Amino acid sequence: MHPSLLVQIENALPAAGRARRGRLPEWLTKPEMNHESVTALKRDLRARNLHTVCESARCPNLRECFHRGQATFMILGNLCTRGCGFCSVPKGSPDKHEFSLDPMEPANVARQAETMGLKYVVITSVNRDDLADGGSHHFAQTVREVRAALPKARVEVLTPDFEGNMDAVKRVLDAGPDVYNHNMETVRRLYPRVRPQADYRQSLAVLRVAKQYRPDVLTKSGLMVGLGESHEEVTQLLGDIHLNGLADVATIGQYLQPSRRGLPVIKYVTPAEFDDYRSHGLGIGFKMVFSGPFVRSSYMADLVAHEASLASA
Ligand code: SF4
Repeated sequence: MHPSLLVQIENALPAAGRARRGRLPEWLTKPEMNHESVTALKRDLRARNLHTVCESARCPNLRECFHRGQATFMILGNLCTRGCGFCSVPKGSPDKHEFSLDPMEPANVARQAETMGLKYVVITSVNRDDLADGGSHHFAQTVREVRAALPKARVEVLTPDFEGNMDAVKRVLDAGPDVYNHNMETVRRLYPRVRPQADYRQSLAVLRVAKQYRPDVLTKSGLMVGLGESHEEVTQLLGDIHLNGLADVATIGQYLQPSRRGLPVIKYVTPAEFDDYRSHGLGIGFKMVFSGPFVRSSYMADLVAHEASLASA
């Protein structure tokens, strides 16, 4: 990690505090944070019928990020058509009415980003395998609305694999994001258990096509550790992301079971092992590797993109 980013993150993180849950190692403790700013942001989001992955996926960084005025918008509704074992975003049956798209969502994301005064906007979505275009038109429209409302802001997209529909990938890129993120999530061997409806090679292809189509756009991919993968499998995955996917940035964080129905944590990876992964990633050519227990693909995304851009210059 670049020293300047390290300093900023250390300054931004709250001092070590009481563990929120028992049986967690000390490096996975966070202080309780109750701020009116967090409640107010949640209220604004509900008023605009908006969702965030922060809330829906029960991210452990939610209070910290919301308090800092950061959030990752999750579009295409709050119901996912897939059943990934690590994720607590609500699942549903696509033939139900709740799956209808909110035509106001793109504009509402833009208004909310404006209200929050964001300089860096992160947009992700649920999987919408029920839609012929995977929701890519709606995704692209959201990027355009944000661009129009906040022309100086940078925009990062974290997209699904669109079931390998590369026209959908290109459609989102045509809307002009600064960073294209698609998470590999886990090592190849664990796909059937962790991402049963996804395909390892297909996800690599999404990253490869994104980089080939728009070489000027930073590409990024994230993975979780602690699901039963070996050290060698993680280094293999990093190699695959970088060489096949040509991604610029990797994020690596500890998997934490979001609910009792989620896959169990097999291992709490130590900070030293996270450091090893970062060194390995930088050694094989990533511009930036953000690796640590609380790292999530959108965590401090603005700083990560800034550091990666400096490394590209
Ligand atoms: S790390 Fe990302 S998903 Fe988690 S709270 Fe922060 S912005 Fe939201």
